[in-house]
Amino acid sequence: LGRLFGPITQLSGLQETALTIVVCFDRIFEVLDLKPLIEERPDAVGLAKNVVPEIEFENVSFRYPGADEVSLPSLEQNVRAERERGKATPNVLRGVSFQVPAGTMTALVGPSGAGKSTLTHLVSRLYDPTSGIVRVGGHDLRELTFDSLRQTVGVVSQDAYLFHDTIRENLLYARPTATEDELIEACQGAQIWDLIESLPSGLDTVTGDHGYRLSGGEKQRLAIARLLLKEPTVVVLDEATAHLDSESEAAVQRALKTALRSRTSLVIAHRLSTIREADQILVIDDGGVRERGTHEELLTEGGLYAELYHTQFARPGSKDTRQAGNGA
Ligand code: ATP
Repeated sequence: LGRLFGPITQLSGLQETALTIVVCFDRIFEVLDLKPLIEERPDAVGLAKNVVPEIEFENVSFRYPGADEVSLPSLEQNVRAERERGKATPNVLRGVSFQVPAGTMTALVGPSGAGKSTLTHLVSRLYDPTSGIVRVGGHDLRELTFDSLRQTVGVVSQDAYLFHDTIRENLLYARPTATEDELIEACQGAQIWDLIESLPSGLDTVTGDHGYRLSGGEKQRLAIARLLLKEPTVVVLDEATAHLDSESEAAVQRALKTALRSRTSLVIAHRLSTIREADQILVIDDGGVRERGTHEELLTEGGLYAELYHTQFARPGSKDTRQAGNGA
């Protein structure tokens, strides 16, 4: 009997295993079937290279998919909950419309939590708008291939991420085919070459915790060198809020000038010098564009910008002319 039922038991065990596998696959497919937050359309197109495009927001509203709910016991429940969560979160941007003409710089200023970073996330297509359209070069970002988007839009965030590897590898990540001369030229443009050249191993110096520790300003300049190698036509920049020593800060400012030249840029600006140089300032408040204009125009208007300016920059006795209204 044992010999008869043994294989049957084994078979049913197998069946159970098979069933489990099928159920697992079902679950996997349910997850895979989930619409990813960002997807590339089958008919996606590429932007023309070397043409500096304009950026346009048309009536853009956005809410983040919520992430504050507790995990539920099963995968299916979690998946469904994830779908539902977005519906409960508030709109972070509401009907935002503006243009950044090709080759110009727009500075975003405004109180903390106003939606400035969120605006920049939509340009690099970290998220799609809940409604409305973000265009680059006249194309809805959702019409573009990921490759084209990656090539077109360069991002420099406050905390430049560096791999625990040599400076050379960290740079080649932006343009794997770059020659030695091109690496040096980018480092010179980013005002970081003098430092690299002074290190015993030069470009082959290992950075990171167990290697050469770059300061905040140096890391940012290396990130700018990467940007110069990548040559994007659109730059999204979150200017550092960290107080750099004045020498480092002046170097970062010079590097940024090179990086933003002849590109279309959207900058979360914290420094008065950047704000003054902007072709256009957008004052973001409560998820909308409250004011727009140049530094002088907005000061004359006497609205929120003027208020931020006077509290942040024009305080009697204030020596700090670097931090803007952001975070006020
Ligand atoms: P700050 O100057 O402080 O950086 P900000 O103007 O850049 O602020 P955002 O970071 O865009 O503002 O945030 C706008 C709103 O969106 C805030 O209420 C914030 O809490 C919310 N928010 C930001 N990121 C997320 C996220 N990943 N999920 C949910 N809500 C978010």
